[in-house]
Amino acid sequence: MILIGPGGSEGLGAEKGITNTKEHGLNLMEVEFTHGVNMNNEKAKIIGDIAKKNNFLLTIHAPYFINLASEEKIKVEASKKRILDSVERGYHMSAKYVVFHPGFYQGRDKEVVYQKIKEEIIELIKIIKENGWDKVELAPEITGKHSAFGDLDELLRLKKETGCQITIDFSHLYARNLGKIDYAQVIKKLPKKFHAHFSGITFTEKGERMHIDTTPEFFKPLRDELKKIEDTHQITIINESPQPLRDAVMMREELNK
Ligand SMILES: [Zn+2]
Repeated sequence: MILIGPGGSEGLGAEKGITNTKEHGLNLMEVEFTHGVNMNNEKAKIIGDIAKKNNFLLTIHAPYFINLASEEKIKVEASKKRILDSVERGYHMSAKYVVFHPGFYQGRDKEVVYQKIKEEIIELIKIIKENGWDKVELAPEITGKHSAFGDLDELLRLKKETGCQITIDFSHLYARNLGKIDYAQVIKKLPKKFHAHFSGITFTEKGERMHIDTTPEFFKPLRDELKKIEDTHQITIINESPQPLRDAVMMREELNK
């Protein structure tokens, strides 16, 4: 099964965003806490009830200001709090995943950064379990810039060694690989259950520049591979273009063809 939905509510707020997305024939939306977790648990519960009533799935994007690999303890602690706040709201909303960008290399050895992030994710999962929030799963994301931790192999290793889930941002992967990508090869490496992001994207030699509108032509190579695994995999895909709802609808229609 593949569920497709928009990143964000088109500025309507999550409650109206759910019904609006549903009216467009989609059953998934990512709630954007990208600029901060500005919602309380009561509101999260209300949103969760609306989602349940509509047989609608929610995921959450945690704030951008996260660096689990920072050498400054205070920054790591603030990052963990942002992730845990997102998970707590997610628990009350019955959201499936909390997506986040794990951290930055900052010129350090990649293995050192990997171990640091792994350690913090293990600690986060422990806290999440202790609080009983563990229906919500952490899903660190493939990042678009070479300066940011999170290529495909690092994430697959994290999943294996911590038990976390992963967010495969196919356009970030495309930008990291400077426009060369074989989706069949990528999908071969992936588990049967994963969360994903997709949109049009521009890049420089450093990787991602910006997300742009998603054209059917740009989606087609991925669409053709997704079509082959629609019945065997459990995939949720969020479109993050400047017009995420319109483009998510387009992706759904292309997949239905
Ligand atoms: Zn992201």
